[in-house]
Order: sequence, then structure tokens, then C-alpha cells
Amino acid sequence: MERVYNFAAGPACMPEWVLKKAAAEMTNYHGCGMSVMEMSHRSAEFQEIIDSARDRLKRLMNIPEDYEVLFLQGGGSLQFIMVPLNLMQHKADIINTGQWTKKAIKEHKKLGEVNVVASSEDANFTYIPKIKQEDLSADSDYVYICENNTIYGTKYKQLPPHEGKLMVADLSSCICSERINVSDYDLIFAGAQKNMGPAGVTIVILKKSLLDIADQDKLPSMLSYKVHADKGSMFNTPPTYAIYMVGLVCQWLEEEIGGLENMEAINHKKAKMLYDYIDSSKLYTNNVAKEDRSYMNVPFVTGDKDLDAKFVAEAKKAGIANIKGHRTVGGMRASIYNAMPVEGVEYLIDFMKKFEQENA
Ligand SMILES: *Cc1c(COP(=O)(O)O)cnc(C)c1O
Repeated sequence: MERVYNFAAGPACMPEWVLKKAAAEMTNYHGCGMSVMEMSHRSAEFQEIIDSARDRLKRLMNIPEDYEVLFLQGGGSLQFIMVPLNLMQHKADIINTGQWTKKAIKEHKKLGEVNVVASSEDANFTYIPKIKQEDLSADSDYVYICENNTIYGTKYKQLPPHEGKLMVADLSSCICSERINVSDYDLIFAGAQKNMGPAGVTIVILKKSLLDIADQDKLPSMLSYKVHADKGSMFNTPPTYAIYMVGLVCQWLEEEIGGLENMEAINHKKAKMLYDYIDSSKLYTNNVAKEDRSYMNVPFVTGDKDLDAKFVAEAKKAGIANIKGHRTVGGMRASIYNAMPVEGVEYLIDFMKKFEQENA
């Protein structure tokens, strides 16, 4: 069986270059006679792997010197409580753009006050609410957003106003998909399994000065950014193989793609092809406000539930996997992360055209 085009939202497709390299190095990594997953995390070989993954990510994203890069566990979801545990003194301003911010709001409320600055729930999260500085609470510690909303296919094209506040963003489904100015943020987190590698490791990028906010005597060690930072993400056994894979993905981005500027151009091209076709088609619609459309997740519907189900089933037979939409949205969703090649999107569009002709 050939490989399929996998449009899964996460865990998601990986660059074939990365999979092949990992396969070639599987049983005997660089002549050391064992696989990366068999190595001690205290070995010189693994130290080199984690250092190089961190260095590559810093180069790719142009991360300033006063930021710390951590490789943690617990997924994006642990960050919903780890962020307030480490940064919140009184209150957080959170903009509600869907399931991932709702979960963050729920966790934050266990520790302090939350001001839900704005919400797009009134339109099933099909747009990004625009806020003004005056909408923020006077006494909040930070503004929190989910930058790319994986389920609904919305994305912030610019950060909300946050003067005098820290800026915290969940980049789980858009990290390294485009160039960003890291210094516009105070803390970024992202589970790896959408754009950076396999599930099991979460990347946290935060300003070093933030490590001194929390009272370390009251914070569980495993939930302290400072503890992990002081130990170079090796306070306990880190997810060694997942970190190795993140390193390979970064190597692919640097050496095969040529950096985030090129990756961004490819991603914009893929998204434009798909949206242009959907907008021109009589069968499919994407309900997201045009200026807020995601480059990574493209939900679409035919307007007929049975026809959607038929689409998903026939797509699967044609080698298009995991195109079914999230249960709360319905229809279809094409997740076109970094690893989805342009040819995969072309193949999907050809299938959509054929399906439209046959079912118009
Ligand atoms: C997938 C996802 C999460 C949750 O990640 P887990 O690793 O499953 O905890 C959080 N935020 C966003 C934007 C996501 O896409």
C-alpha cells in the first residue's frame, strides 16, 4: 500500500524526509549501536540531540537571547493550568475563540479571576473578535489567546492590543508555519503533534524574566517553568524520542525547506489554492470570516450531512485520510500543516472537483 495524503488535525502528517531519516537511524543512531529511544537521557549522544533541537528551533524562529526554550510533557492541555500557576497573580484576560480557549478559561478559574474579554461563540467561533485596549481589565496580568483555532479554522493575523500586559499565546497548530516576531510575545506554547513532530512533547518559549514571578516554594516542581529551565528540560526523563523527532523536523525546515520565510510562502500558496477553489465552487462552502481564515485548518461543508458523509467515505477510498470535520463543526476539515505537500492539496482539489461534478 502506498502512503495516503493525511489531512488529520493532530497527530498529523510528518515530512517524509523526516520519517525516512528516522527510519535509517532507527536501530543504530550515528554508529552508537542503539536507537535514540534506548539511550540514556544523560548520555553525551542525547545531550547533543536536545541541544541541537533547541539551537535549530532558536535559529528558525529567531528566538532572542532573553527567551528560554523548554521541552515539556502533558500536551497543550497541561499549559492551560501551568501558565496561570506560573504567571497569574490576580487575573487573566482571555479571548474566547473556541474549545481550546474554553478549556484554558476553565483551568484558569481554578486559580484566580478570568475576564473573558470577548467571544465569538455567538457565531460558532467562525471569526476572531476584535478587541480594544479599553476592553482589557485594569488589573490583569496577561492577555491570553489561541492564535490558530484548529477546530474552526480561524487565525489571528495580528495580535490583540495588550499594552502593559504580558502576551500569552497557544500556537499548537501554527508554530513554525510562518515567520513571527517572538519578542511580540512573552510566552508561546505548542504541543508538537500538529506542526513539529509526534505527540508527547510540548514546546514552551518564554521570556526568562517570567521565571521569577511565581513563589517556587508553593509550586509543584514538575509544574514549574523555572525548575525545568534550570535543568535544561532534563529535571526528569524528557520525552527523548519525541525531542529527537522535533530536531529532525527543524532540520527539515532549515535544510530542505530553507527556513520559515519559504515555509510561509508554501503554506500561503496551499491555503490560497484551497480557499479559491472552495469560494468558486457551487457545492462547498467555508463559513469563516475571510480576513480570519486559517492557513493550517480549512473546514468546509456541502450543506447536506449525507453528502458530507459520502464525501468522507469516497475520499478515504481515493487515499485522502482523516478529512472528516470536528464533531462540533461537522462537514470536512483539511488540515494542511507544514508537512502536507502542495501536491497533496492539488490532489484534494482534483478529488473535490470530481466529487462536485458527480454530485451536483
Ligand atoms: C491540539 C491542541 C491543543 C491540545 O493539545 P493536547 O496536546 O492534546 O493537550 C491545544 N491547543 C490547540 C490550539 C490545539 O490545536
